[in-house]
Amino acid sequence: MKSTRLRNLPPVDTVLNTPAAGILIERFGRAASTNAIRDTLKDARAALQTGGCFVPSAEHIAAQSLAYLEKEDRSALRPLFNLSGTVLHTNLGRTALAEAAIEAAVAAMRNSVALEFDLETGKRGERDDHVRVLLRSLTGAEDATVVNNNAAAVLLCLNTLANGREAVVSRGELIEIGGAFRMPEIMARAGARLVEIGTTNRTHPRDYASALNTETGVILKVHTSNYRIQGFTCEVGTWELSAIANKASIPLLHDLGSGSLIDLAAYGLEREPTVREALAEGADIVTFSGDKLLGGPQAGFVVGRRDLIAAINRNPMKRALRVDKIRLAAIEATLKLYRDPDRLAERLPTMRFLARPRQEIEACAARALPHVAQAVGDAFAVELCQCRSQVGSGALPLETIESAGLSIRASAGGRAIEDLARRLRALPTPVIGRIEKDRLVLDFRCLTDEEAFLSNLPHLRNDATTATDAPVSERRASLDGQP
Ligand SMILES: *Cc1c(COP(=O)(O)O)cnc(C)c1O
Repeated sequence: MKSTRLRNLPPVDTVLNTPAAGILIERFGRAASTNAIRDTLKDARAALQTGGCFVPSAEHIAAQSLAYLEKEDRSALRPLFNLSGTVLHTNLGRTALAEAAIEAAVAAMRNSVALEFDLETGKRGERDDHVRVLLRSLTGAEDATVVNNNAAAVLLCLNTLANGREAVVSRGELIEIGGAFRMPEIMARAGARLVEIGTTNRTHPRDYASALNTETGVILKVHTSNYRIQGFTCEVGTWELSAIANKASIPLLHDLGSGSLIDLAAYGLEREPTVREALAEGADIVTFSGDKLLGGPQAGFVVGRRDLIAAINRNPMKRALRVDKIRLAAIEATLKLYRDPDRLAERLPTMRFLARPRQEIEACAARALPHVAQAVGDAFAVELCQCRSQVGSGALPLETIESAGLSIRASAGGRAIEDLARRLRALPTPVIGRIEKDRLVLDFRCLTDEEAFLSNLPHLRNDATTATDAPVSERRASLDGQP
C-alpha cells in the first residue's frame, strides 16, 4: 500500500508542467521553483513513509511550493505595526522617518549627488558641510560633525581626546545602554584609561578636581539616559564641571544620549536637556543620537568647539564611522524641519506619536475593536483599555504617557495569549503588542494607517501550523545545499 502511494507521487517534471508551476516559474525563476518542488515532494514522501495516506496531486505540490516560496520571499525587514506602546523601540528600528527625509533619501539613492563636491567652485567639498550649517544654527555650536550613531560619536571623541591618556568619569555615570555598549568597555576600545571617581550615588566637585593631572585627556559626563539614581544623591552639574575643566584646560565631553533640539515641554513631555543648553552650560563637545527623540535616521552628532571638531575630523577612525549619502540626505531633511518647530508634530512622526492626544488614540482603538474581536474569535474577550506608552530608547526613562488601546484576554487561559501574540506576529504585516500578565495589550498610539491595519486582520489564522510552516528550517538547509 505504502509503496503504491509513494509510486503515485507525481515526478518533478509533471509538477513543473502544471499551470500553477507556470506562475511559480514566472515569479521566482526555474531554479528556485524546481528546488521548492523537490523539497515539497520530499516532505510528501516523508509523510507517506511515516504512515500518511494522502497522495497530493501535481497541482497540489505546485500550490504548496508557491506558498512556501511566497513565505520565503517576504522580507525580514518588512514593515510591521508597532503596537508595543514603546514609541522609539530600538528592536523595531526606532522611528518612522518624515516624508521629507524619505523623499530626500530616495532621490539620493537614485542619483549621483554632490556629496563631497562644491558646486560653486567645482572643487572637492566636505561630506559634513550639508549638515554642519544646520547643526550649528540649531544648537549654537561653533562646529559640528556626524558619524554612524551616537555610540560611534562617543568612541571617536574619546579616541581623539584621550587615546593613551586618562578619561575621568563619575561612577554614577558608567552606564550600560544595552547590547555591547558599556561605557568602560567603549573607553578601553577608544584607548582611554578610565579613571572612576566618586561613588555610585554621590560625586562631588572635589572628586573631579583631585583626579585631574597632566595625563588627563578628557572629562566625560554621561547623561544617565536609561535610568535614574534617586534618593541620597549628588551629581556635579555641567556648569560647575565646565569651570573645573576650564581651569585645568581639559576638554569636557558631554554624552547626552538622546538629546533634543527643542524643549519637549511644549509636547507635554518631561524636559530632556537640549543640546543648546548643554553647550551653553559649558560642555566643549556634546554628542547625541539622530534616531532617538530627534526623529531622524540612525546617526551620531558631535557638536562643539571648532578646534576639537577639527581634531575629531582628522582622526582616521572618522573615515570608518562616516555616514553614506542616503542617510546624510535624510538627516539634512530631518534637521531642516526643526527650523519650524511649530509644525514639527505635523511633519515628524516621532513628535506626532508623542504628542498624539489620548482621545484620538482611543477613538482609533474603538473603531478597530469589532474587527479585532471578529478576527481573534470567540476564544478571546477584547475590550477598550487605558494604558501608558513609553518613549523608549532610553529617553525619559521614568515617564509614561497616557494612551489607549485594546486589551485581549483568553477565555481558556494556558498559553492561549502567547499563541495569539505569535499568530499576530505571523500576519503579512506583523502586529507587535505587549503581554501584560494574562492579557495582550495593543497600544494604538503609533497606529496611523487604520485601513491597512484592518485589511491585514482577516489573514489571522487559527491553525497553529500548516504544511508549509513546519519544515522551513529543513527546507532552507536543503535549498542552500542543493546542487
Ligand atoms: C542611546 C545612547 C547611546 C548610544 O546611542 P546610539 O545612537 O544608539 O548609538 C550612547 N550614550 C547614551 C547616554 C545613550 O542614551
